[in-house]
Amino acid sequence: MINFQYVRTSIVKTALSLINKDPKATFIAGGTNLVDLMKRGVTAPEKLIDINHLPLKKIELVNNVLQIGALTANSAVAENALVKEKFPLLMLALQSGASAQLRNVATVGGNMMQRTRCGYFYDITMPCNKREPGSGCGAIGGYNRMHAIFGTSESCIAVHPSDMCVGLVALDAKVVIAGSKGERRINFIDFHRLAGNTPEKDNNLQKGELIMRVDIPTNNLNKNFHYLKVRDRSSYAFALVAVAAALDLKDGKINDVRLAMGGVAHKPWRLTAAEAFLKGKEATKANFEAAAQLAMKDAKGYGENDFKLKLAPNTIVEALTVAKAKA
Ligand code: SF4
Repeated sequence: MINFQYVRTSIVKTALSLINKDPKATFIAGGTNLVDLMKRGVTAPEKLIDINHLPLKKIELVNNVLQIGALTANSAVAENALVKEKFPLLMLALQSGASAQLRNVATVGGNMMQRTRCGYFYDITMPCNKREPGSGCGAIGGYNRMHAIFGTSESCIAVHPSDMCVGLVALDAKVVIAGSKGERRINFIDFHRLAGNTPEKDNNLQKGELIMRVDIPTNNLNKNFHYLKVRDRSSYAFALVAVAAALDLKDGKINDVRLAMGGVAHKPWRLTAAEAFLKGKEATKANFEAAAQLAMKDAKGYGENDFKLKLAPNTIVEALTVAKAKA
């Protein structure tokens, strides 16, 4: 780990000015991923700008949109009364992530910015196009049990590790971002990106920008929902496959549905074709199975992760079945 400067500010404008002045600076909030990356030599910022004191910790309902400040701790979001009442799917996704201790420190913005847990990315003696563009991908043809089955490229088959982001993409969240030219908003689904031939870029946040908050529009998906995370142990483990499922049922028919997966792609993976198939249909097991098959179109295994090709559709069907039964 190299020596680095440390500065702290409680003013958004100052934070933006500091980051824009220094190309080798980076923001730090909870630091639950960044400090690991620094210790292992994966990243070496020369300046850390501590943003923990910025006023971005509010959770409030404004015009039927829940606004969650980017510096709110994951545990505070999961325990918030409005989140529990209106977006219990997000609560479950958050509770599935990491450990209780980590959730107390990790922030919403930091959760979005966390990097893949691909072992080759963290081992600086191994080839990894994400860490060192052009060096190759150790996981293709190597140890890839945890890796992606959707949207992969010849450069990288890593997955995004977050559970919270799977819930947010299912809930049609938006991200509010501040930069030197003012604020912009993007759909959560467009925040993270596929690896393509630039796997070093995890998301579409530009250098010098700061995540301010996440907005979630209210919906009727707070009765029949489930977040099903399949993992190697029951806590403190990343997803092999995770499914966020929510149904708005009317007289046994599916009025609205949201489906997203984690542990399967370089970004939280929304199942739009499966959702379109299910809308207006009966909430039956046969329809859930047909939707799951549709969702698996274009899935591809890389050897050790081939088991996900069967695990993923089974997890979709189970998540929908549990969601339906919750009424
Ligand atoms: Fe690196 Fe991506 Fe390959 Fe992992 S899958 S070794 S992160 S390029």
